[in-house]
Amino acid sequence: QISEAEVALFSVSSYACQRRTTLDNHNSNLTDALSLLAENAELNNEDGRGVAFRRAAALMKALPTQVISMSQLRGLPCLGEHSLRVIKDVLENGVSSEVESTKQSKRYKALKILTGIFGVGAKTADRWIREGIYNLEQLRHSGQTLNRAQKSGLEHYDDLNEPVTKAEADAIGEIVQKAVDSVLTGSQVALTGGFRRGKLTGHDVDFLITHPEEGKEVGLMPKVVAWLESQKTTRNSYLESKDGPARPASNMDRFERCFSIFKLTKGKEQETASHKIWRAVRVDLVVSPISQFAFAVLGWTGSKLFERELRRWAGHEKNMSLSSHALFDNTQNKYLRATSEEEIFAYLGLEYIPPSERNA
Ligand code: ATP
Ligand code: MN
Ligand code: MN
Repeated sequence: QISEAEVALFSVSSYACQRRTTLDNHNSNLTDALSLLAENAELNNEDGRGVAFRRAAALMKALPTQVISMSQLRGLPCLGEHSLRVIKDVLENGVSSEVESTKQSKRYKALKILTGIFGVGAKTADRWIREGIYNLEQLRHSGQTLNRAQKSGLEHYDDLNEPVTKAEADAIGEIVQKAVDSVLTGSQVALTGGFRRGKLTGHDVDFLITHPEEGKEVGLMPKVVAWLESQKTTRNSYLESKDGPARPASNMDRFERCFSIFKLTKGKEQETASHKIWRAVRVDLVVSPISQFAFAVLGWTGSKLFERELRRWAGHEKNMSLSSHALFDNTQNKYLRATSEEEIFAYLGLEYIPPSERNA
């Protein structure tokens, strides 16, 4: 037991975008539990509850030392009654009973398996579960019609649920750069997502493509995708495009983008007993005009919670609207131009947080 006097109280900002969250997490026992409950809430379309657990998990990730007693948490923001109950359970019993029963539940297991298929979201998974489909075997024999993405997702299920390494991300980066150079000289490729934040593995590899001359990037995505697909006839790696190339109809994000599956040729040393010479990897490609590039880099670097918190900060504290295209100041009624992430943080009145410290 530690006494009151020995308890060092933490002082932590309530917005994740005001905190420096590196990859070294001193409370993974707690953040794993909270993240699982967040994931379960998201899988059940309980968004409010999901965000609450994500915020609590992010707060615990930002603490400088391991928490061993509830008294250390006094005065901390972002910890609701439910999250505190979970934390208490883990601190006292080593595990959270709610987490354990969630993990064991038939519904959670099925949602995990089914949404693990590329192109399958919580809504589709829920519909299938209601029709008695709980696993891939049952899905395969169900006669459900799958769209193109889902068919590929099912076909490459094991590959796509195997984490992507940094070496694989770099190899794909080189190929994307080559494709982009081949179709439009002077184009630039930037690695975004988790790998830009210094993660060693990821569920996909994210790239942002632009050209220094505004307007040149128009129509670039179909050309890049066509070049990558043309590699099919060689023994090189290539891309099997799924929902792209397309300009989505939604106003949410008007970039040209392509959420795709890449067939990455393995090096000799990685060739498996099955003699499969390639593996499937999820790759997200996004094209942005240079005028929006800084906003796009910031918006696609993540983490997802960090992005959400940046937008919340902008809206609630600054009367501004931030997206991965622009920053609008509602008070001055004008767009604020930026050519770097540093400038955007400055407009928002935030200390600059480098990508490696955005792992909220
Ligand atoms: P992982 O290693 O699991 O891939 P990640 O942080 O790279 O982790 P992603 O899902 O690839 O996670 O997302 C990367 C970034 O892209 C995040 O900042 C997220 O907000 C953004 N993003 C992802 N999907 C979309 C989308 N449909 N529209 C806009 N932004 C998105
Ligand atoms: Mn990613
Ligand atoms: Mn992604």
